[in-house]
Amino acid sequence: MKKCRICGKRAIIYMPHHRLALCREHFVEWFEKYTEKTIKEFKMFTKKDKILVAISGGKDSLALWHVLRKLGYEADGLYIHLGIGEYSERSKEKVMKFAERIGGKAIIVDLKEELATIPELVEVSSREACSVCGLVKRYNFNKVAKERGYSVVATGHNLDDEASALLSNVLNWNEKYLGRKYPVLEEEGGFVRKVKPFCKFTEKETALYALLNGIDFIEEECPFSEDASSVFYKEILNRIDERSPGTKLRFYLDYLRKVYPKFKKEEKKELQRCKVCGEPTMGEICPVCRLKEKVKVSG
Ligand code: AMP
Ligand code: ZN
Ligand code: ZN
Repeated sequence: MKKCRICGKRAIIYMPHHRLALCREHFVEWFEKYTEKTIKEFKMFTKKDKILVAISGGKDSLALWHVLRKLGYEADGLYIHLGIGEYSERSKEKVMKFAERIGGKAIIVDLKEELATIPELVEVSSREACSVCGLVKRYNFNKVAKERGYSVVATGHNLDDEASALLSNVLNWNEKYLGRKYPVLEEEGGFVRKVKPFCKFTEKETALYALLNGIDFIEEECPFSEDASSVFYKEILNRIDERSPGTKLRFYLDYLRKVYPKFKKEEKKELQRCKVCGEPTMGEICPVCRLKEKVKVSG
């Protein structure tokens, strides 16, 4: 077993992409410092910002909320109750329990009251479940942040999430995606700033941090995502990384450095305000209000 680079004690993790082995204590310390470094590197936010952390009840977002507060940032949580049966009930419980433990404020949005549950929306939509769910979540992150005076929304997306999404979009040569995905999306025409402070941590690293801090998170996956292709792309990337350590991180970081600037569109999007809810949209009525209309008709 390798030894911790700092103190020489038995290491609990070796990160080949950083050529770094660390013991329990020094891994936690490193993880927090590295989060701060990523926040500063991408100018995500400062101590003056009011941050809304989107919390799913999973390891990444709970760990993110924990780290941000520990680093001294002003961060509250936002949980969207998606109405996906027992899975949603259990994840809500994890969020509430954690909020209580850290004495944090958790805002809860119940989709059933606001709109309709994800299963009901999927029923009336021609989109895939994950696409409907992503749309509705992003809409609410933005709306709640603006209504309640938050300057930035932070999500728990990790390196595995970002690199696997990148891989699938490269395989399809989705140029739009390549110019749009970045760990910071600046505030623009009714959209608040969005950031991903964990974008350089692997899933294994965020899971270990959550575990070492006794964070009780929901382990089961959303029942809709069981055979999602993202799981497959994550597996493929991990196999490549096993054979050639460091490839996953390099693939993502080189995209940020070399590819994103080439595809990024400088001109601003032509955004309008939705005639129904006032949120920014490309058309006259935003996709969420159109879904709402469909639910009304079918119900
Ligand atoms: P996912 O799309 O499930 O991989 O989640 C990506 C990120 O979105 C998570 O790390 C959270 O920050 C956020 N998120 C996912 N589900 C929810 C939810 N139900 N409520 C609030 N935030 C969520
Ligand atoms: Zn050590
Ligand atoms: Zn609308």
